[in-house]
Amino acid sequence: MINFNRAPFVGTELVFVEEAIRNGKLSGDGPFGKKCQNWFEAHLPAKKTLLTPSCTAALELAAVLVDIQPGDEIIMPSYTFVSTANAFVLRGAKVVFVDIRPDTMNIDERLIEAAITPKTRAIVPVHYAGVGCEMDTIMDIAERHNLYVIEDAAQGMMSNYKGKALGTIGHLGAFSFHETKNYTSGGEGGLLIINDEKFKQRAEIIREKGTNRSQFFRGMVDKYQWVDIGSSFLPSELQAAYLWAQLEGAKLINDARLAAWKYYAEKLQPLADMGHIELGVVPKDCIHNAHMFYFKAASLDERTSLIEHLKHQDIHAVFHYVPLHTAKAGRDFGRFSGDDRFTTAESERLIRLPMWYGIDEATQQQVVDAIIEFYR
Ligand SMILES: *Cc1c(COP(=O)(O)O)cnc(C)c1O
Repeated sequence: MINFNRAPFVGTELVFVEEAIRNGKLSGDGPFGKKCQNWFEAHLPAKKTLLTPSCTAALELAAVLVDIQPGDEIIMPSYTFVSTANAFVLRGAKVVFVDIRPDTMNIDERLIEAAITPKTRAIVPVHYAGVGCEMDTIMDIAERHNLYVIEDAAQGMMSNYKGKALGTIGHLGAFSFHETKNYTSGGEGGLLIINDEKFKQRAEIIREKGTNRSQFFRGMVDKYQWVDIGSSFLPSELQAAYLWAQLEGAKLINDARLAAWKYYAEKLQPLADMGHIELGVVPKDCIHNAHMFYFKAASLDERTSLIEHLKHQDIHAVFHYVPLHTAKAGRDFGRFSGDDRFTTAESERLIRLPMWYGIDEATQQQVVDAIIEFYR
């Protein structure tokens, strides 16, 4: 069986997780947690980063941090994971979906302005497949309308747009370290990226159950107490230890993924040239991280047959998001601005191929051969 995904593992995770256990301190913000955050702050770079239990939690923290209130409107694509929307719906906000661009599957920046109303508070671009949204345009719109930009960069670690790391361009950004992403903190995990100085202090407080515990540990206050709303948004030291191994191997993992991505792209180019399939586009301003290899079949029916064909050969290829506006909760908590020209139609044709850190060429060739056979 060729699985769709395997959790990334470089080897030293075992060493660091053991070290964390022997340290005798397993709750959040221990030595490994601090090392990871320092690494991100230096490498992205970012004003401040905070590890979280998931990207979902990082987005929820962000929604509290920018004070989303009931009735506020948040602009995002419908072609995304539920957490992008839930984080804001949990604060009582209404989601306003904007159509995507067919080339990158990212929010169409040219349609955002028409979705803005007096209630709009934030834009949440999602960098699909680790390929950046048109951030210059989005930041310009946000500035002119006084909106926050919170980047859902769940898939975007090691990618950049015009030389800036995804997640560091908006006011806030979020990464995921779920096992399906390029880097994991032991299966689940995330990161909040703070790019606007004014959020640094309150983010720590919300993350520590609404207390000033972080300031207490730095000796800035003589006792810690309840000062704001908050929750528990800290991952454990075991997760940070696993992640530290992956950060040390960040370039190794990224190079291997890019090589695997290029292999698929080269081998499938002839099918694209013959007009059978459409490959994804990486705009020239973007450097991507090979998070995902996808292409589009001619139709939903063709995609269904192709997935079935691959399954018969023990190859697990998968489709992706059911557009949120077509789902029950999406209808209850959101509305679509303008026409759904591409969101539904393009999502129905998209198929993702098996891809993980360590996939070998023989395995990839088996997948390629099965696809070529289908189109013969
Ligand atoms: C994976 C993903 C999330 C959620 O990440 P978790 O760490 O599993 O909470 C959110 N948004 C996007 C776009 C994702 O791909």
